[in-house]
Amino acid sequence: MSFASRSLTPLVLTVCEAIDSHAEELTDLDRAIGDADHGLNMQRGFGAIKKEVTRLAAMAPGAAIAEAGKILVMTVGGASGPLYGTLFMRLGQELSKSGDEVSLMQLRAALDAAIAAVMARGKAHPGQKTLIDVLVPLQTELQRATGTSFDAIRQTVAKAADATVALKAERGRASFLGERSVGHMDPGARSMALIVTAVCEVLENANRATQTTE
Ligand code: ADP
Ligand code: MG
Repeated sequence: MSFASRSLTPLVLTVCEAIDSHAEELTDLDRAIGDADHGLNMQRGFGAIKKEVTRLAAMAPGAAIAEAGKILVMTVGGASGPLYGTLFMRLGQELSKSGDEVSLMQLRAALDAAIAAVMARGKAHPGQKTLIDVLVPLQTELQRATGTSFDAIRQTVAKAADATVALKAERGRASFLGERSVGHMDPGARSMALIVTAVCEVLENANRATQTTE
């Protein structure tokens, strides 16, 4: 598995589409345990990224991902803006150390640093019903000694988002509800799972294309 600059346009467009087409669902999830704006926040942020797709696609992968993070910080707002912004900015910074081709090992290391940065930023750890409850299982899946697959990654993040239903929120607005937050999926966990699934789709297609041309 590797990632190359040529995948940037489909990557940006596919992730933006995944958020746009699920905005209502994300807002509904946030209506149950928050303030009904997560879908709108994310739609605004990824809509702004989409407008910059040509500029982003001309950059190296790391720089483009970091720039996308800056756009999210400026446009998303709420708790999720700085958190998603930190994730992408740190991921991009780390990936800038690689060239135009990013290997699974480089992606893994970059993700480790980015997840640590998000946890520090949100003062959150796993089990508190946040987007971290999807990021950490993703990290574990990518580190499996026996290797992973796009299907396994997709299943991992879907299961991880589902598992937030049973958790009590201890961070963000949902924490104000205490026990009443149990029984609802965390909106940030769902949006994170959607983004990871969209990334898998693009990388899988890119890998397939590389294999057939090699
Ligand atoms: P707001 O809560 O400000 O309205 P959003 O609705 O856009 O912002 O985002 C809410 C999501 O942000 C939550 O579902 C949760 O996943 C995530 N979140 C909130 N606070 C934290 C935190 N401290 N650490 C990690 N994630 C958090
Ligand atoms: Mg909200």
